[in-house]
Amino acid sequence: MFDNLLTPTPLSLFLVFLYGSLFGSFLNVVIYRMPLERSIVAPGSACGTCGTPLSWWQNIPILSYLLLEGRCHACGSRYSIRYAAIEALTGAAAALILWHHGGIGMPFLLHFVFFCFLVAVFFMDLDHWIILDEVSLTGVAVGLVGSAFMPLRGDMLVAGLHPSLQNLASSVLGLLLGVAFFWSVQVIGTLLARQEALGTGDIKLAAMMGAFLGWQMGLVAYLLSFILGALVAVPMMVLRRRRGKDPVPLGTFMAVAAFLTALWGDRIFEFFLVWPEHLYPLL
Ligand SMILES: [Zn+2]
Repeated sequence: MFDNLLTPTPLSLFLVFLYGSLFGSFLNVVIYRMPLERSIVAPGSACGTCGTPLSWWQNIPILSYLLLEGRCHACGSRYSIRYAAIEALTGAAAALILWHHGGIGMPFLLHFVFFCFLVAVFFMDLDHWIILDEVSLTGVAVGLVGSAFMPLRGDMLVAGLHPSLQNLASSVLGLLLGVAFFWSVQVIGTLLARQEALGTGDIKLAAMMGAFLGWQMGLVAYLLSFILGALVAVPMMVLRRRRGKDPVPLGTFMAVAAFLTALWGDRIFEFFLVWPEHLYPLL
């Protein structure tokens, strides 16, 4: 397909950053409104305190925050820096993905769309401890369709099958493995800890990750989710001396693991294969 539409140069990376930050602006609306069951299309953005609608120059990603010095033009109440941070993050991710793939093609598009879904999941889970079906199940559909248009992945299941069908089969298997893996963690965790270890929202998120990543990279991402979760949650629990409920929801770690795996899954997979060897001298 169209593989090298825009090679990474300082100018193209900057333009893609600007374009990506517009998506970040939309993601802010999604993250803020969807859990409150409000429309993400209308009305336009307004100040959360006084309700004054934002004019076009107050709606420019990142720049408006700097121009307004983080305050509402009408009432002067402070805006959270998180809005500008998500815009910058999304722009930076778009540039990073372009640089990683060496041009705009299906891999760029699929991974940027995947990133947008993951950002929405990350912040909604952080704020409300929920992963909305509208996000995760839409992600499953987009991941499956998108995979069929990707170049052939390395995790072939049946030799001789058309690349689109290969990728689709890999994504369906990834989805099923994700559901099976997280569902069994839920069941075992509930038996051992006598409380729900993870929610059905996390299981649907695993399905979305499998749909986007395929079965092999899906497994890498599932494993990495728990490793990241343990690396962050255990020290936090020790520091705060909090027992029981995790201080940070699992979905946020799954989202980070999924993005890392989408771009560097091969290296992470190699690391998983090699690191036990480093442990042998210790035994
Ligand atoms: Zn205001």
